[in-house]
Amino acid sequence: MAAPELTARLERVVEHGAETRSFFLRLAAPLAFRPGQFISCLLPVAGERLIRPYSIASSPEESDRLELVVDRVPGGPGSHYLFTLPIGATIQFTGPWGTFILDQAPPAETVFIADGTGIAPIRPMLRRALAGTPTHPLRLLHAGGGSPPLFREEMTQLARNERAFSVDYADSPALPGEVRRRWVASDADRSRHFFICGVGTIVPTLRDVLRQAGYARRAVQYEKW
Ligand SMILES: Cc1cc2nc3c(=O)[nH]c(=O)nc-3n(C[C@H](O)[C@H](O)[C@H](O)COP(=O)(O)OP(=O)(O)OC[C@H]3O[C@@H](n4cnc5c(N)ncnc54)[C@H](O)[C@@H]3O)c2cc1C
Repeated sequence: MAAPELTARLERVVEHGAETRSFFLRLAAPLAFRPGQFISCLLPVAGERLIRPYSIASSPEESDRLELVVDRVPGGPGSHYLFTLPIGATIQFTGPWGTFILDQAPPAETVFIADGTGIAPIRPMLRRALAGTPTHPLRLLHAGGGSPPLFREEMTQLARNERAFSVDYADSPALPGEVRRRWVASDADRSRHFFICGVGTIVPTLRDVLRQAGYARRAVQYEKW
């Protein structure tokens, strides 16, 4: 059976930089979803209907308004279409979808690694983990994502207010080295959990660094765009 199509109205746009924007979508009815999930937008472009997944960067607690954080990809028809939409435009979508989710903080140190807009699904995961009064450290390593990095102020504020949470920044190409240094070479602890998200080969590269170092498969979750 085909997934039901839902409709949203573009309510607000926030520019993070020339090529990255937050799109706030007002829904006709609340949408139940889990932190980390995405919706599939059905975009009418050049007589076709392109299907483009976008992670939900807002939290399930706000169920009638979604935030998407979108890069305008050079030559990319779907993202270019979204960047032309005026306030008030309607967007069809299906969802929520996806198994890259976090409902509560794992019972171990948890590391979130985001490359650029890969912070989108991780943001609601972090908020959910912190809401449950975590017993183990929660760390975010964020690479790229503009200057200043996406949500830097928000993450810095969170780190100030939440003892369990810390955030660090790195350059994208430095990520594999940073991951090795911090969570492979530094100790023999292999009980940590990882959530990794970003665009392209960096994601499986980081996954492999961790799994080959002895972390359990199920403890290294990832989503590659
Ligand atoms: C589960 C999932 C969740 C996603 N969530 C987001 C999201 O929250 N925000 C977002 O901007 N994109 C997200 N994407 C990517 C998005 O679905 C599209 O692939 C992207 O917008 C490019 O579509 P396009 O039609 O403009 O270009 P296309 O011609 O379809 O894509 C061209 C190439 O651009 C690259 N690309 C894809 N996404 C990005 C990106 N964000 N930045 C730079 N290069 C990229 C890929 O290598 C892709 O092959 C997600 C993808 C998946 C699979």
